[in-house]
Amino acid sequence: GLWWDRVGPATKDPITGVTESFLADSSPNKINLGVGAYRDDEGRPVVLRCVREAEASIAGSEFLESVSAAVSSKFVEESVKLVYGSDSDVVKDGRVAGVQALSGTGACRLFAEFQRHFHPDSRIYLPDPTWSNHHNIWKDAQVPERTFRYYDPDSKGLNFSALIDDVKNAPDGSFFLLHPCAHNPTGVDPTEEQWREISYQFKVKNHFPFFDMAYQGFASGDLDKDARAIRIFLKDDHLVGCAQSFAKNMGLYGHRVGCLSILCADSNQVGSIRSQLQRIARAMYSSPPVHGVLLVSTILSDPYLKSLWIEELKTMANRIRGMRTTLQDSLERLDSPPNWEHITNQVGMFCFSGLTPDQVDRLAREFHVYMTRDGRISMAGVTTGNVSYLANAIHETTR
Ligand code: PLP
Repeated sequence: GLWWDRVGPATKDPITGVTESFLADSSPNKINLGVGAYRDDEGRPVVLRCVREAEASIAGSEFLESVSAAVSSKFVEESVKLVYGSDSDVVKDGRVAGVQALSGTGACRLFAEFQRHFHPDSRIYLPDPTWSNHHNIWKDAQVPERTFRYYDPDSKGLNFSALIDDVKNAPDGSFFLLHPCAHNPTGVDPTEEQWREISYQFKVKNHFPFFDMAYQGFASGDLDKDARAIRIFLKDDHLVGCAQSFAKNMGLYGHRVGCLSILCADSNQVGSIRSQLQRIARAMYSSPPVHGVLLVSTILSDPYLKSLWIEELKTMANRIRGMRTTLQDSLERLDSPPNWEHITNQVGMFCFSGLTPDQVDRLAREFHVYMTRDGRISMAGVTTGNVSYLANAIHETTR
């Protein structure tokens, strides 16, 4: 047993710990506010109708190799339209190099590898805080990270002036990761005007914006509105990169469907960049699976299924927004002393509640309510049935 003697257990992912404690709790009142996956008002995972219908229509597909290449390029063609706009010049002029990726995580990792390969001395600036796996992804791709200030714990909103200072103080030509909508874990997004200023400062500093778009549609319920940050950058003639995930907005978590796209200076560059991305992917996993991608391309290229998806996405976003309002109202009706306005000011799947690690521990111990110790509430876990119990638990823990 000499070969692996030095291998100890890896540090647990914070979400995995929350799920384990939740599962081990036998209380009928228990609530899991850890997972970042959508749940309906009954607390159940959802398979969208558009997905069921697409499943039915592709049943019996043979998935020959030739099919998989065609499906993948159709998928990329449709995906990039969601990000850049279906009638945008960059799409019409064929300036987007896109490849299918293993969901949002795989798209981020592929980009990190590409970044290290072609800019070996570069770093990545990540928002503070950010999705915890961003740190692991760029670290394992051997790209050093820096952080830029983002969240202001006092206002539970954006620390815009600090963000702009950090953008200005980074060396010219730095890589920055931005969440274009529904920031994880804070739920805090810049306003349109603030995005314009960020884009302007990026231009001045010649920074590269890499957008990690894991929740398109979840912030506003509208795909185009949620892409407005990226559209602002396009207007300012930036070259951008984007990781897209269909895990949340199509509920395809297990299928690992994503897209990595890089906007090129001209259409001549597209072939080079795309082939390099494919080469990197080939050494890691050759090619990604085709089934989920066939579902997505079927939905995006069929006007009926696409409009059904857009409706269902709106329903999911609206349910979450409704729960934000109800949770805030319930706390206010209990005369809870803290200000809870940030619950409805924040957007997307998550609410950065401001609960301290001690309060989070108490919520679990005394009320069977589970969340990560940073106080992040997954709003998808809040339902009509548990919201008043939750409000009361939060009130008792914070009074
Ligand atoms: N990026 C962000 C900001 C996320 O929150 C997530 C998921 O939690 C991902 C990327 C990756 O998701 P997936 O790989 O499941 O598409």
